[in-house]
Amino acid sequence: MRKKVLVTGGAGFVGSHLCEKLLNLGHDVLCVDNYYTGSKENIKHLMNDNSFELLRHDVTFPLYIEADEIYNFACPASPLYYQKDPVQTTKTSVHGAINMLGLAKRLNAKILQASTSEVYGDPEVHPQTEDYWGKVNPVGIRSCYDEGKRCAETLFFDYFRQHKLDIKVIRIFNTYGPKMQPDDGRVVSNFIIQALGNKDITIYGDGEQTRSFCYVSDLVDGIVRMMNSPQGFTGPINLGNPTEYTMLELAETILKLTNSKSNIVFRPLPSDDPRQRKPSIDLAKQNLDWQPSVNLEEGLKETIKYFKAL
Ligand code: NAD
Ligand code: UDP
Ligand code: UDP
Repeated sequence: MRKKVLVTGGAGFVGSHLCEKLLNLGHDVLCVDNYYTGSKENIKHLMNDNSFELLRHDVTFPLYIEADEIYNFACPASPLYYQKDPVQTTKTSVHGAINMLGLAKRLNAKILQASTSEVYGDPEVHPQTEDYWGKVNPVGIRSCYDEGKRCAETLFFDYFRQHKLDIKVIRIFNTYGPKMQPDDGRVVSNFIIQALGNKDITIYGDGEQTRSFCYVSDLVDGIVRMMNSPQGFTGPINLGNPTEYTMLELAETILKLTNSKSNIVFRPLPSDDPRQRKPSIDLAKQNLDWQPSVNLEEGLKETIKYFKAL
């Protein structure tokens, strides 16, 4: 069934892949973005498609359009950018959620929230299961993002309980792939750019902290499956690749794949940097029949190819 779909943050890294996937599935896509961390370049190849529309708009302001489904992805995701203007980051998550939920309520549209593994903070439960409430510093430099996303989840569940909205909440774990901004500051893009330029690879802290990296095509597949899950299946549900790496292992893998002459250097660890992160994906396996299929080396090769061609 052809649907009118709104993607906020559609000019960003994940959002642009999602717009492409939805067009391929035969939907009409309206991409809404203020280009804070996204770009027209990411969606340039979609512009000739009559089913694709683009609107420059900041989701902290009300939006009156028509849609059957809403994917709410607007929000900077890299610590470097979400900490540049932390007040705007919280506004984007909280006011953005209120506006998109108000829009969904008026239209009786289904709405999916891009939440994050950051709601677990620096987790004491490993791997992280959806029933874990998290350990988040409410007043630290990551709080604008973590607490903003937690408050957005609260709003989604209150609109669900109070207004009977058809909501879906996904918790995305570190995702990488082509179309990450080269200066985005996230670890995968930083290491690849540094390795390709034979510049020092900057490891923050001792490099023993862990993350679990999901390739973007796997994530987008899971996102669409969640939107199409039965009504009343709200989540929150983890989407991520459960294979866990230390940042040292990631650096070594990227050095190998790029044949780089870069040296590894150590820089101070930013405050509140989570020590470990790995999703439990049992819920997604059982309910969405979903699990990632692209391993780290395969995904990194594609990502390296993309950055080389820039
Ligand atoms: P991104 O920074 O590439 O994309 C975010 C997009 O939102 C950008 O195009 C940006 O311009 C837009 N945006 C920001 N503020 C806006 C506003 N006020 N109004 C309209 N547009 C706005 O990041 P991404 O990696 O593509 O992340 C997309 C979503 O997924 C975010 O909500 C993020 O929190 C979530 N997420 C991503 C990851 C990941 O690893 N990539 C992990 C967890 C959660
Ligand atoms: N809103 C919007 N588009 C709409 C409907 C609502 O952007 O089509 C915004 C509007 O700013 C409103 C918010 O969503 O303040 C929450 O809407 P809701 O109906 O839940 O509450 P209201 O504040 O209108 O009572
Ligand atoms: N990191 C690093 N070097 C960099 C960028 C990041 O060692 O150049 C570390 C960072 O401190 C964190 C991990 O890599 O421990 C993942 O960072 P990213 O910003 O990509 O994601 P997040 O911390 O939000 O999971």
